[in-house]
Amino acid sequence: MTEINAKQAFYAGLDENLASLRQQGLYKSERVIASRQGPEVVCDDGRTLINMCANNYLGLSGDEATVQAAIAATEKYGYGLSSVRFICGTQTVHKQLEQALSIFLGMEDTILYAAAFDANGGLFEPLFDEHDAIISDALNHASIIDGVRLCKAARYRYQHNDMADLEVQLQAAAGKRHKVIATDGAFSMDGTIAQLDKICDLADRYGALVMIDECHASGFMGATGRGTHEHHGVMGRVDMITGTLGKALGGAMGGFTAARREVVQTLRQKSRPYLFSNTLAPSIAGASLAVLERLSSSTDLRDRLHANTAYFRRAIFQLGFTIKAGTHPVVPVMLFDAPVAQQFAQRLYELGVLVSGFFYPVVPMGQARVRVQLSAAHTTEQLDRVLDAFAQAGRELGLVKV
Ligand SMILES: *Cc1c(COP(=O)(O)O)cnc(C)c1O
Repeated sequence: MTEINAKQAFYAGLDENLASLRQQGLYKSERVIASRQGPEVVCDDGRTLINMCANNYLGLSGDEATVQAAIAATEKYGYGLSSVRFICGTQTVHKQLEQALSIFLGMEDTILYAAAFDANGGLFEPLFDEHDAIISDALNHASIIDGVRLCKAARYRYQHNDMADLEVQLQAAAGKRHKVIATDGAFSMDGTIAQLDKICDLADRYGALVMIDECHASGFMGATGRGTHEHHGVMGRVDMITGTLGKALGGAMGGFTAARREVVQTLRQKSRPYLFSNTLAPSIAGASLAVLERLSSSTDLRDRLHANTAYFRRAIFQLGFTIKAGTHPVVPVMLFDAPVAQQFAQRLYELGVLVSGFFYPVVPMGQARVRVQLSAAHTTEQLDRVLDAFAQAGRELGLVKV
C-alpha cells in the first residue's frame, strides 16, 4: 500500500463505521437548543418543548440567581486563570468552594477538577497499586471504569446492586493489601440507588474502603440533599465521594473528590487530571458556592423535586405505563422494543415533550425505554401536559388503553 492509499483507507474506514452506525439506528445526533436550559427550552427550529431529559434536577442551570452569581464571580476574579492549580491557578473562591463542599458532604476535605470524569479518572491510580483490589459494581459509570483501568490494582466486578455477589468478590480479594468498593451512588439509567448501608456493613466486615460517585445524587438525595450517604444514613462511613458541578449543583461543569485530608492531599500531589489540566473557571466556582449556600439554607428545591417525582411516578403508572419502581427523579418508562422507543420519543417531540429514548447497547437488549428526568423547576401544569402527551402517544402506538 502506498502512503497515500494508507491515509485514504483510514478515512474510508471511519466513513464506513459511521454509515454502519447510522444504518443500525445507533448514530447520536444533537438537538440544538437556542435558549437557556430549563423546564422548557426553545429549539433552533423555533419550537418550545417541555424538557424532561436534562440532569437539571434542581432547576438551577438557567436560574437567574445562578447566572448572576457567575457574573459576579467573573467580575471579581476574571474570566480564567491560564494556569493549573499549583502554579498560579488557585483563588480564594476555589478554596471557599472546596471548604463549602466538604461541609455540605460531611467530609474532611475536597479537591476540585475540571469534570467528574477527571475526578474519577484521577482517583485510583495515585492511591492504589498492584497490591490492592478495586471491587466495582458492573454498571458503574464509564469514568469509574476508565479510572480503574489507569490503576494497577487487581479488578473485581460484582453483579449490579447484588450484595451477595459483592461479598463473594470481597472474599476473592482477601489476599490484597487495600480493598476499595466503588459504586455509583445513584445509577442514571434505572434510577437505582446503591444499597450503601449494606455496602458499608460489608466494607466494615472485610476491612474495605468505600468510594461512591454522587453525580446523580449530590444536592437532592437524602433529607437535606447531601446525597445517597445521607439517604441511607451512612454519612461518616463513606471514604471517598466523587461528584459533578455539572448536574444538580448548577449544571455548568466541574467535578470534585471529597475524602479524608490525607487522601485529598495525596491527590493534589499526584492526581494527573488535577496536576496537568487547567483550573476550574472562577465563574463556575463562584456560582457553585452560591448554589451550595442556597441548598444549605433551605431544602425547598430538593423538596419540590421529590414532590414532582412522586407526582409523576404515580400518574404515569396510573396511565398504564411500566416504570422501574423507585424514588429517584430518573424515571425509566419501559417500552422494551427499540423501534417502539424511538417512535415514541419522536411522537412525544411532535407533541412538545423532549425525552431521550435509550436502547441497546446503552441498555440491555429488550430493555428499551424513554428516560424521564424530573426537575424542581417543573410546574404541575407542565407535568400534566407531559402526562397528556404520554397518554396520547401511548394510545396511538397501542401501548396503553386510557
Ligand atoms: C455525568 C456523570 C459523570 C461525569 O460528570 P462530568 O462532570 O460531566 O464529567 C461521572 N459519573 C457519573 C455517574 C455521571 O452520571
